[in-house]
Amino acid sequence: MNKIGLLGGMSWESTVTYYTLINQGVRQALGGLHSAEIILYSLEFDAIEHLQYQGNWAAAGTILSNAAKKIEACGADILLICTNTMHKVAPAVEQTISIPLLHIADATAEVIQKQEMDRVGLLGTRFTMEDTFYKGRLQEKYGIEVCIPEEEDRALVHQVIYDELCCGIINDRSRNEFARIVTSLSKKGAEAVILGCTEIALLIRQEHTPVPLLDTTAIHAAGAVGFALGDKRIVVKT
Ligand code: GLU
Repeated sequence: MNKIGLLGGMSWESTVTYYTLINQGVRQALGGLHSAEIILYSLEFDAIEHLQYQGNWAAAGTILSNAAKKIEACGADILLICTNTMHKVAPAVEQTISIPLLHIADATAEVIQKQEMDRVGLLGTRFTMEDTFYKGRLQEKYGIEVCIPEEEDRALVHQVIYDELCCGIINDRSRNEFARIVTSLSKKGAEAVILGCTEIALLIRQEHTPVPLLDTTAIHAAGAVGFALGDKRIVVKT
């Protein structure tokens, strides 16, 4: 079985989900006592969040790259960065390792294309919704049109991610707000909405809205399961 490297802790609330989903996927495929071989490096998120806030992405990239090298040295065959936002530094991380990186936006784009959709909404941190590293990749590499919430709603989503979801707080009022924002993206023509932050599915899931949701944590984890079991086609190089 191929060994899965997880660069997690951003936040650990969602890394738990990765660990669970990857093990469940392997057990579902192989049965019995089978489980995934996982090498996990869980970073101190407070330090990362400070660097994000300062806009010091180079320093954050160095921290992630150093951790990625350690994961590779422990024998991982592939690396997953368990956060959408920190894919902003994915090119730097990728340069420091020789194992492939399973990019979360590529895994998500593959699902969008399989479902023959070409216009989707995107929820995530302000960095993910507003910078080009994520939606630009979907648009330029895959021709997927991406729409994002209005400014006020972007601020709300960002704040709920850092002040609630990454702190383990699940709030009904925030869920209702997210459902409202998902509906507004659908009204703008989104055929589905990407939950482009690995904690969002802790708050809102498919049963909370009729608009199709694309949970990046589940999609990314499913890609890892495929790779663990020998499917190397899913890895798209940056
Ligand atoms: N896990 C989140 C994401 O997928 C946000 C936390 C972070 O800034 O990495 O973007």
